[in-house]
Amino acid sequence: MTDIFRSILPSSAWQKDEPLSSHCTFKIGGNADYFARPEDEASFTELIIAVKKKGIPYCVIGGGSNILFSDKGFRGIVITTQGLKNIEIDGEKMTAGSGAMLPIVSLKAQKSSLDGMRFMCGIPGSIGGGVFMNAGAYGGEFADILVSSRYFDIEKGEICTLSASEHDFSYRHSSYMEHPERIILSADFALRYGDPEEIKAECDCLLKKRAEKQPLEYPSAGSTFKRYPGFFTAQLIDECGLKGYSIGGAQVSEKHAGFVINRGGASASDVLALIEHIKFVIREKHGIDIECEIRFIGEK
Ligand SMILES: Cc1cc2nc3c(=O)[nH]c(=O)nc-3n(C[C@H](O)[C@H](O)[C@H](O)COP(=O)(O)OP(=O)(O)OC[C@H]3O[C@@H](n4cnc5c(N)ncnc54)[C@H](O)[C@@H]3O)c2cc1C
Repeated sequence: MTDIFRSILPSSAWQKDEPLSSHCTFKIGGNADYFARPEDEASFTELIIAVKKKGIPYCVIGGGSNILFSDKGFRGIVITTQGLKNIEIDGEKMTAGSGAMLPIVSLKAQKSSLDGMRFMCGIPGSIGGGVFMNAGAYGGEFADILVSSRYFDIEKGEICTLSASEHDFSYRHSSYMEHPERIILSADFALRYGDPEEIKAECDCLLKKRAEKQPLEYPSAGSTFKRYPGFFTAQLIDECGLKGYSIGGAQVSEKHAGFVINRGGASASDVLALIEHIKFVIREKHGIDIECEIRFIGEK
């Protein structure tokens, strides 16, 4: 395995026995056998091909802001896209690498007098994770601005393009969720010229709102559950008296009931047990099944 890394990546771009808690916003997770951060598309795809050929389990992450890693870690290799962070602008079109982080992309658009990316200024994920999740906030989402994405198809060993309609976007859903063999490499966006001062003022306002309403002072993976049609999930959780409810180090935030936070030393098992408890209580009291938005990686 280390031979593969040595032939493809510089020694600074991979680690053995890497704690996954350092690579996610929840700050939870055991060790991955290997962790790699290729710095360009060529080494990224070469690594994926080599890993697949050897039959080594792998998983691709971006910012790690919507995942919960297992306490047992990951037997195989976790690969981050964060090295693929190029951003190019051509008139009102932007192309961003899958590892470019959303607050940076949003700021770059604003500084280039381009409007359309205000909604992503406070989302701590990457372009790849944003496309995958159809991330959105404050009335905007990826589906509104995405023109196409490029991905590496691991089965075919080819780089392909997906048009906007082929993403089958809906609330926190894209067709990538049904195609684990597709790794997003970059995305094209159609933006429009706007006033950078006005865009900045609104972004500042959105960031302030987040800081007031969300428990940003604690590690989390953002909203734990998807919206249930017709309901605000956080309100349902609050009405069930679950604010502040804890299992081990995991707690339903007292500031925002939609967030499960890591109060310190939480394990993935604590978080999973708390999620199950919340789902149980909501089902008992309201007769509905709420769905988790956070994606679990590793062995339960
Ligand atoms: C404080 C906080 C606030 C948040 N606020 C919001 C919000 O307002 N709106 C919102 O929608 N989300 C929000 N989130 C959740 C999260 O930031 C988004 O879902 C984000 O889009 C995830 O991106 P990521 O790069 O971190 O993805 P990751 O967490 O790294 O991965 C998420 C999933 O995407 C897959 N994936 C990632 N990159 C690729 C790729 N290149 N190719 C294929 N699959 C890939 C992973 O395998 C995984 O299944 C918040 C999270 C936090 C911690």
